[in-house]
Amino acid sequence: MSTASLHGWCLTSLSLPTTRPSSTSLKRPTLGACVFSRLGSSSQSPPRLIRNAPVLAAPAPLLTPSLGEEMGKESYEEAIEGLKKLLSEKAELGPVAAMKIEQIKSELQMPPAGISPTERIKIGFEHFKKEKYDKNPQLFGELAKGQSPKFMVFACADSRVCPSHVLNFQPGEAFMVRNIANMVPAYDKVRYSGVGASIEYAVLHLKVENIVVIGHSACGGIKGLMSLPEDGSTSTDFIEDWVKIGLPAKARVKEAHPNLAFTDQCGYCEKEAVNVSLGNLLTYPFVREGLAKKTLSLYGGYYDFIGGGFELWAINFGFTAPVKV
Ligand SMILES: [Zn+2]
Repeated sequence: MSTASLHGWCLTSLSLPTTRPSSTSLKRPTLGACVFSRLGSSSQSPPRLIRNAPVLAAPAPLLTPSLGEEMGKESYEEAIEGLKKLLSEKAELGPVAAMKIEQIKSELQMPPAGISPTERIKIGFEHFKKEKYDKNPQLFGELAKGQSPKFMVFACADSRVCPSHVLNFQPGEAFMVRNIANMVPAYDKVRYSGVGASIEYAVLHLKVENIVVIGHSACGGIKGLMSLPEDGSTSTDFIEDWVKIGLPAKARVKEAHPNLAFTDQCGYCEKEAVNVSLGNLLTYPFVREGLAKKTLSLYGGYYDFIGGGFELWAINFGFTAPVKV
């Protein structure tokens, strides 16, 4: 296992289930330690996964229906019937099969190409109202009173990686911040107050129990970060300055994999930048306090939309026994 420091804070990898100290005699938080990283290793495995396999990997039979654009309505309906049959035969596949059925149904409702933006939004809301809102009066009745999400999610603004679709978050489940390359800047009341306000609100007011930072494959923001000129010059008003938040990740990847092809380096950086953001989260005092009180957990995630996989890893915030000196 290799380690790397992050802004003076340290994260240690953990495995599922998250191990936390049970002894009351352990009183010293280990926030000073190190960030686990696989970058020093020649292994191609991701950075210390909770499970070294896609978390959302579905049983093979559920992945067989092809959902290409050329698929006709009959094929969709056949796929749905097949999934329903599978569902009735194998109850344990229920949640995954139900999710797949919803996905196929959703694709059946795809608006026709070439419609106006106004019409697209109208159709979209009508679909949501009919299929979600009107069918779930209890859920939306509760949400009318307030929200109590368990998750705060940082995800890229990329149109292909919406967490509500990828992780099937329902309304009210996840408080989200999306930006270029899913980055969390270090605590800074001047430059990044928008992000700070979101974290403060999520942790102190909504009392989310989990913060998840999700990177993804083929991220344009990470490619921009990896392409930054060495002389520090910029050619954009905002983008390059923003992605510089991930410079420690870039440096680590360049150091650990100097000879890799650029695309492969970007792939490593997409995950390592998540670790930088996890480290930056520790610069927010209310995040540290939540971790110390065990009311908050931090996770890194990675969505590979090319291979169709999802990886999840977490920070092990623990305590060590006091040491007499
Ligand atoms: Zn991205």
